[in-house]
Amino acid sequence: MEPSKIQQNLKQVKEKMAFAALRAGRLPDEVKLIAVTKTVGVDEIKEVIKCGVTDIGENRVQSAVEKYEILKDLPTWHMIGRLQKNKVKYIVKFCKMIHSVESIELAEVINNECRKIRKVMEVLVQVNVSGEESKQGVCPEDLISFLKEISEYDFILVRGLMTMPPICEDPEEVRGFFKKLRELRNLALKEDIPHIEMIHLSMGMTQDYEAAIEEGATMVRIGSGIFG
Ligand SMILES: *Cc1c(COP(=O)(O)O)cnc(C)c1O
Repeated sequence: MEPSKIQQNLKQVKEKMAFAALRAGRLPDEVKLIAVTKTVGVDEIKEVIKCGVTDIGENRVQSAVEKYEILKDLPTWHMIGRLQKNKVKYIVKFCKMIHSVESIELAEVINNECRKIRKVMEVLVQVNVSGEESKQGVCPEDLISFLKEISEYDFILVRGLMTMPPICEDPEEVRGFFKKLRELRNLALKEDIPHIEMIHLSMGMTQDYEAAIEEGATMVRIGSGIFG
């Protein structure tokens, strides 16, 4: 049987990811692919799982919950989009990692919901690397104090940083923002804040994941490059 479009896309994405990692002197398996499934249904998700994808990203709570009802723990679930505080309670039980923590108020709600179910949630702190007002995320100059504050929560484990750079025509232009996130991670590492891990950099989407991997991404979030 002919491989499906999704299979073909996935194969290509994985190859490009591997080459980008090798170019940066890293091993291909140091970078995790998160298939962003916000535009597709459970059949497509099942298909990528069959092709070896283990982790999926959703950006809307309602849609994630509906898909979870069917797929349960077949994939590992990541929340990657803006998360409203009043919806946190619906996702904490099945979500492995929340990539978009950008306020202490949100962190506090996550902590409270996770305490109820005795679960430690892995989170990434979203950083607004470009400083554009329209962009979500903690400002780079506030990052260290933010990390110190969030480190106090017992049911949250910070594992790194995430960013959504502004849309750039040229993938080389966006590279500067990826570099900046890596430098912020290194800065945070030096601070040696207790109870915080600075391992992951979640950066890179369909348009720019190769540059992101070359600059140190440990997780890339790819939607349209797989599902069209
Ligand atoms: C949609 C989305 C992606 C994937 O974008 P593509 O361009 O389709 O690869 C990645 N991250 C976030 C936060 C998203 O909302």
